Amino acid sequence: KQHFKLAVIPGDGIGEEVIQEGLRVVDHLSKTSNKFTFESDYFPWGCEYYLEHGKMMDEDGLERIKNHDAIYFGAVGYPTVPDHISLWGLRLAICQGFDQWANIRPVEFLPGVEGKLNHPHKEKLNWVLVRENTEGEYSGIGGRNFAGRGPGKEVAVQSSVFTEEGCERVIRHAFDLAMKRDRKKVTSVTKSNAQQYGMVLWDEVFKRVSRDYPEVETDQWLVDAMAARFVLHPEELEVVVASNLHADILSDLGSALAGSLGIAPSANIHLDGRFPSMFESVHGSAPDIAGQGIANPIGTIGSAALMLEHLGLKQEADLINEAIRATTKDGILTADIGGTSSTREVTDAIISHISSKYANV
Ligand code: NAD
Ligand code: MN
Repeated sequence: KQHFKLAVIPGDGIGEEVIQEGLRVVDHLSKTSNKFTFESDYFPWGCEYYLEHGKMMDEDGLERIKNHDAIYFGAVGYPTVPDHISLWGLRLAICQGFDQWANIRPVEFLPGVEGKLNHPHKEKLNWVLVRENTEGEYSGIGGRNFAGRGPGKEVAVQSSVFTEEGCERVIRHAFDLAMKRDRKKVTSVTKSNAQQYGMVLWDEVFKRVSRDYPEVETDQWLVDAMAARFVLHPEELEVVVASNLHADILSDLGSALAGSLGIAPSANIHLDGRFPSMFESVHGSAPDIAGQGIANPIGTIGSAALMLEHLGLKQEADLINEAIRATTKDGILTADIGGTSSTREVTDAIISHISSKYANV
């Protein structure tokens, strides 16, 4: 039996609500499957912590979660704390501090969920976005009042950083994922017509890496055209690899097409064994619906599936995903995807599908 230590960071708003539900599913699974046990260490970091202590996480925060097997993360963001403080102080601090260089964001069309995509074979569509997760447009390098001109005339510079190694590892990972799929195809997204340094480097690395994967079909698109392609020709998407900012935007588009931000899972992966990876839904803390018990838990529960798969429990991960599909098919949906069920009711249904699976074995 494997034993896992999870660092749990619920964060703010609906983050706390959905993390609880995800842990209920993992807990249920650990008891029924008998293949693993786990313990959770909770870290109360986030915006409330910031308002009280002046920092989003403890100074030795990374040190304290470095040896956990995985990090399970809710969401951060609070109306009275500037978003760049909450984002850089916690989520990006972890992604960059632990060199989680690939952010994997699958887009799936769940049965029984209307979504916003008009397509004849929606239920067959699924693709995965591979987001560069440590550099690019989110390098954090820049400055305010750059030319020393002061109020009203201020100049701010925000630099993007692309390293050849950084591009290569995430692009290579996209090809490795493509090799595991029925249709082996990788689409690279840049804006290399306008951004002629970093993005051109990316394009060159993409071409070079693609030669190592002769079985994989490739194409390359500019991000604006790709946004349209998501809507017009989603059947052409398999593995899509893009820079930090572009993939961030495209993944919200993908999840909206599939129905809601609330159903999109993600994994921030560190693959070189030195640090834990982090699993979280794509959405934020949703202050507009926080505290009402109506947040969609599927994105966070799906992220637990990605976490278990990462920990070597593929069968358990598949079970969670099947249970999610069975639940939406039954019409047990939260308001964001057109239903009236509560966060808890959706999770209960997912858990009961998992139970019935085991009862039938
Ligand atoms: P958001 O994702 O929190 O919400 C956008 C919209 O989607 C809202 O209308 C919300 O109600 C809805 N929504 C999101 N998740 C949902 C769910 N699980 N179920 C039902 N509806 C859901 O994005 P925002 O409003 O732009 O940002 C709110 C805060 O979250 C900000 O402080 C922002 O910085 C932060 N944020 C954090 C993360 C993160 O922690 N990874 C990501 C994005 C935004
Ligand atoms: Mn985002």
